[in-house]
Amino acid sequence: MSCFGFLDRLQLPRNMIENSMFEEEPDVVDLAKEPCLHPLEPDEVEYEPRGSRLLVRGLGEHEVDEDEEDYESSAKLLGMSFMNRSSGLRNSATTYRQSPDGACSALSARTVVVCAFVVVAAVSVIMVIYLLPRCTFTKEGCHKQSQSLESIQPVATNGKPFPWARVRLPMAIMPLRYELSLHPNLTSMTFKGSVTISVHALQATWNIILHSTGHNISRVTFMSAVSSQEKQVEILEYPFHEQIAVVAPEALLMGHNYTLKIEYSANISSSYYGFYGISYTAENNEKKYFAATQFEPLAARSAFPCFDEPAFKATFIIRIIRDEQYTALSNMPKKSSVLMEDGLILDEFSESVKMSTYLVAFIIGEIKSLSQDVNGTLVSIYAVPEKIGQVHHALETAVKLLEFYQNYFEIQYPLKKLDLVAIPDFEAGAMENWGLLTFREETLLYDNNTSSVADRKLVTKIIAHELAHQWFGNLVTMRWWNDLWLNEGFATFMEYFSLEKMFKELSSYEDFLDARFKTMKKDSLNSSHPISSSVQSSEQIEEMFDSLSYFKGASLLLMLKSYLSEDVFQHAIVLYLHNHSYGSIESDDLWDSFNEVTNKTLDVKKMMKTWTLQKGFPLVTVQKKGKELFIQQERFFLNMKPEIQPSDGSYLWHIPLSYVTEGRNYSKHRSVSLLDKRSGIINLTEDVQWVKVNADMNGYYLVHYASDDWESLITQLRVNPYVLSDKDRANLINNIFELAGLGRVSLQRAFDLIDYLQSENDTAPITEALFQTGLIFDLLEKLGRMDLASRLVMRVFKLLQNQIQQQTWTDEGPPSVRELRSALLEFACAHSLAGCCTTATQLFDAWVASNGTQSLPTDVMATVFKVGARTENGWLFLLSKYTSLGSEAEKNKILEALASSEDVRKLYWLMKSSLDGDTIRTQKLSFIIRTVGRHFPGHLLAWDFVKENWNKLVQKFPLGSYTIQSIVAGSTHLFSTKTHLSEVQTFFENQSETTFRLRCVQEALEVIQLNIQWVEKNLKALTWWL
Ligand SMILES: [Zn+2]
Repeated sequence: MSCFGFLDRLQLPRNMIENSMFEEEPDVVDLAKEPCLHPLEPDEVEYEPRGSRLLVRGLGEHEVDEDEEDYESSAKLLGMSFMNRSSGLRNSATTYRQSPDGACSALSARTVVVCAFVVVAAVSVIMVIYLLPRCTFTKEGCHKQSQSLESIQPVATNGKPFPWARVRLPMAIMPLRYELSLHPNLTSMTFKGSVTISVHALQATWNIILHSTGHNISRVTFMSAVSSQEKQVEILEYPFHEQIAVVAPEALLMGHNYTLKIEYSANISSSYYGFYGISYTAENNEKKYFAATQFEPLAARSAFPCFDEPAFKATFIIRIIRDEQYTALSNMPKKSSVLMEDGLILDEFSESVKMSTYLVAFIIGEIKSLSQDVNGTLVSIYAVPEKIGQVHHALETAVKLLEFYQNYFEIQYPLKKLDLVAIPDFEAGAMENWGLLTFREETLLYDNNTSSVADRKLVTKIIAHELAHQWFGNLVTMRWWNDLWLNEGFATFMEYFSLEKMFKELSSYEDFLDARFKTMKKDSLNSSHPISSSVQSSEQIEEMFDSLSYFKGASLLLMLKSYLSEDVFQHAIVLYLHNHSYGSIESDDLWDSFNEVTNKTLDVKKMMKTWTLQKGFPLVTVQKKGKELFIQQERFFLNMKPEIQPSDGSYLWHIPLSYVTEGRNYSKHRSVSLLDKRSGIINLTEDVQWVKVNADMNGYYLVHYASDDWESLITQLRVNPYVLSDKDRANLINNIFELAGLGRVSLQRAFDLIDYLQSENDTAPITEALFQTGLIFDLLEKLGRMDLASRLVMRVFKLLQNQIQQQTWTDEGPPSVRELRSALLEFACAHSLAGCCTTATQLFDAWVASNGTQSLPTDVMATVFKVGARTENGWLFLLSKYTSLGSEAEKNKILEALASSEDVRKLYWLMKSSLDGDTIRTQKLSFIIRTVGRHFPGHLLAWDFVKENWNKLVQKFPLGSYTIQSIVAGSTHLFSTKTHLSEVQTFFENQSETTFRLRCVQEALEVIQLNIQWVEKNLKALTWWL
């Protein structure tokens, strides 16, 4: 699956920890003698969200009144009466507030006696409750079975004992083949279904436990292979685990096959999960219906009863009854189409290959396609008829990439067809269902007149990602969701790798580099998690779909490829795919394949476990002394609690350490060695001026240099930056700003380093500098410190002035140049610099005068629209175009402009409309909230909107899903006051315990706390020197 908008929502953690390793000589330790405090067993590195909860207790220690006052006055100023500043916030803030004497004041003897009595009474009550059997107290008394007991002895909906208590299914019964027949009614949004499942008993048992949710089951029959006589049987339902149990009329014998037939009916979902339906307005204003599926991770069970875990692979025969005007598609090619007596059509699809339930898919809609044959596989791109003109780029791309992957993996794509379908309303970016890839329209369709180079890259990358999944994920599948990174990390890695090979002109390495920067920012928080983490509940599984599984996974594979060489890497993954085709695997299976190829010259498993089973990443500190480099590693951790630090010393990584120097022949002075101890020494061949560690940032770690070594690098950048690659220059900018956040270097030194930007021409370093300084601007702006914010902008503008003035308002040049143009003109217009807004206004006025028919340069279109949206008439005109245009690429640029307005009434209307899903589809809601939340004053409004509509949001999007992650982060990440911290915490505490424990909630609280500390630390210094 591709999750949309990951990188937009990565946040701003800042810290104030003052430290410098160079105050003392590096302490070289022989790690061979040092016991490993972190044994790296999966069970011991489970996700522990509770830790952060303590971080934000005791907020009352701080003065909240002043911040509250600021917040209220800004709200009043903006006329935001709907902002709903609840008295609950005040009450909760008061609860936290300590006495003026502080919490540590001496207690009186009387207080001690009273407290002791209260404690004894409380303990007694707790013990009585604990010892009472099978009962939980409620207002009505003791009538409800306690959950802990229920998990031991669950009760089915009919009151009978349910024979299985665990979330995971028993392994006694394995499905072999499903025959699924569906008759959907797209106007009544209901369907009838029937599923016949052939199963094989691996153990003797009386029950068959499988998943089912939301089904009205009318009839269940059971048949053994021996008797071949159908018997109607009873089923038990246990909704808490979304499971049903079929009570067999006879014992199922080990090694025998049986058949189960379940007839049922259900609603077509109105969310984006399971078998869901949508309506849309076609060109002639006619209302149309469309039904699609999105099963990953846990929604196949809502479309049909099934063994809904990835390891329960089986084959599928799917039959769909439809009206004549619709086309039905499924994973496999259509085998037959039969006209029935009632005028309906019955389509039957060929039996599938063996696959997991989350990959099953079917869609029904009025669609057209364009196809091309690739060595016996028919590749087709489908869209609604009026958008069929936008599928050519996708077809060309899919054909090229299919050929590339078949050659690279040395395994043929096994199906006779490969459909890529643009769905009019779809939550994820895309989904890799085997043979039937589903996409948003904006991630598959490309319009020559309105799609920018960034749009083209997006479509190409997402197709590359989903096609890679046909091998990584579909052919070889993770056994359980704890190893989701094996699917997503690989697909993300292959997405960039294949683009570098097949579409080199797109410079996709720039995007991958940017993704690594942003992923490491998230991974440096306490709320981060190892990419291979233990998961059980549906929320925990949903939470695995975050940028770490995708981009950290991909970054680790890049590091491994760089270390082992491209040939060895390819050899190992080809071996892995061949060894495990149609099977289910764990991380160890992948590392075993690598170890087989490296032939024990390197223990890849041992090395990579230090990266997949630990959260975070190392900070490598470097000091050059003569011809020697002294190296140390520690965890890079934006830690707010000093007491956490000691245990942090147990983290140790096996780091492939690479470096470049300014030797006589630059290109030959690259070297790689493995640092598997706390510290080490690298001998340089000659005494060099400077050393840049982590060449091209292929390694997943940050580097801090001794003061003199930073100075040498800064000097080199000023003298001749092009001695270093653009990746290295961008990496240095990223490194030094992240270290400034940690307090290891001063912000002033970070700005000293980017002074060389006046002579920088490449995209990656400039966009990284704009990103880092933009984060600081955002914080200052939201604090109302416009004096400092303006000085910051002017400082950056002076550095990039020449480059900005050289830009033309065209689509000319290679992709990288075009993207730089977008970034520079966006910066200039956002801050009304260099006459940018004048040109943008002229272009916008001409576009309006032509009623939106005059074509604009696509790369600057969003900037032009944003400037145009600043006036009332401009905003309204853009909205009218949004509702009538046919290009999603153009509509997205308009929507971004609409959501960048400063008019809070308009912003509120946008969010509300998207939640309702009429004028603006609900799939765009998280994008709108993120965009509104980025600007002033929208960031206050976005959070209020989220609070007011929280219940609706979690009905529409699963708790923990990436959309909820995105909404929580997007509406809170720019808060930097204690009042906001308290408010966000109180709000989520007042939801369920599960909600409060969500990783995204803990992350939001941590980010706000870090912002507060960053402001406290840096505001004065900025005032002084900026
Ligand atoms: Zn994916």
